Amino acid sequence: MRIAIIGAGFCGLAAAWHLMQHQTTLPAINIQIFDPQPIGTGTSGMSAGLLNPYVGRQGIDNGQAKAGLEATLQLLEVAAKALNRSVVANSLGILRLAHTEEDIRHFHLCAARHAHSTTWLDPEECQTLVPLVQNRPGLWIKNGLSIFPQLYVKGLWQACQNGGVYLNRCRITSLTELKEFDVVVVAAGAETTFIVELADLPLNKVKGQVLKLSWPTHLPPLKCALSSQSYLVMDQNPSNCIVGATYEREYSNELIDLDAAKELILPRAHSLFPPLRDSIVLGGSAGVRSVAPQHQPLIKQVSGNCWVFAGMGSKGLLYHALYAKELAKTIVSKIDIFQNSG
Ligand SMILES: Cc1cc2nc3c(=O)[nH]c(=O)nc-3n(C[C@H](O)[C@H](O)[C@H](O)COP(=O)(O)OP(=O)(O)OC[C@H]3O[C@@H](n4cnc5c(N)ncnc54)[C@H](O)[C@@H]3O)c2cc1C
Repeated sequence: MRIAIIGAGFCGLAAAWHLMQHQTTLPAINIQIFDPQPIGTGTSGMSAGLLNPYVGRQGIDNGQAKAGLEATLQLLEVAAKALNRSVVANSLGILRLAHTEEDIRHFHLCAARHAHSTTWLDPEECQTLVPLVQNRPGLWIKNGLSIFPQLYVKGLWQACQNGGVYLNRCRITSLTELKEFDVVVVAAGAETTFIVELADLPLNKVKGQVLKLSWPTHLPPLKCALSSQSYLVMDQNPSNCIVGATYEREYSNELIDLDAAKELILPRAHSLFPPLRDSIVLGGSAGVRSVAPQHQPLIKQVSGNCWVFAGMGSKGLLYHALYAKELAKTIVSKIDIFQNSG
């Protein structure tokens, strides 16, 4: 049973790992991933790494938060075990500052609904949690996390490779190139619609850029990620931090545009955490989010043996592991039916 997976980002690797877990009942599964880019260099690897269960401006749990978080935590462990080191960047959750009366109302509601995992903090309490942060009240999401995404992708790939998954460093332009495979999973992120048979899928592209800044030398590393009108997380190198992000629906290319990124990100980052005013911009990176209608993931069987797994928008970390697990179950149940009827 040969399975091809297009794409080695969060989704492709999670799908490979979960399909691999079925090898005890279906030992003949052979999984191959196709991706022309080195592991960890795509959008997943450059993302900011925020794993926030209460999504959107309103901090809503859309019913998938708990399951999504648990499934991702499980894969973070898998990656950590493969690398023999943690991929988690902070230990004190995420602090979301409130800017408007509406934010205050939504965050109060979230704190009341999820009292076990969130707490409403007044400005003084926010400052105690994160000294020198902008003077505002906020929602402390204690079960949120920030991770080192590039490390996570590398660890997850390592775990897949240890389980016998093979990586082909090439781009697939048409599904006909994979006709000898029994099952194809397309997890090509924002590039999914470049595959000729999938050009009509309802996926939009939103470019995003982040900046790497020097972390103020007189401050200890941030233990709590900050998310507001911009966000701030520590880099894998604790002398640096990452601030983001841009949301560009129109753009001329997918490369980093440092001048535009600085203009869009820095003013908000400086007001979120004023000590960053003295930081040096060390560089930046850009990626493209794939966004499906209603901002919901797009998981769809597009032909007898081909599934599309894309449209993660800005919530890839929250959703990829959960949906990969469900997709693997669906695919394996169809293989079972196929084998039994054969
Ligand atoms: C600036 C920025 C910050 C972000 N921050 C966060 C965050 O903090 N938290 C969060 O949850 N999400 C964040 N995201 C969103 C997150 O990065 C995505 O949801 C996630 O990366 C989607 O994963 P994916 O596997 O679907 O796609 P990708 O990571 O894009 O992976 C797709 C892979 O497919 C490969 N590929 C594409 N076409 C082909 C082809 N034809 N043949 C072979 N291979 C192909 C690509 O090379 C790529 O490696 C951010 C995104 C951006 C841009």
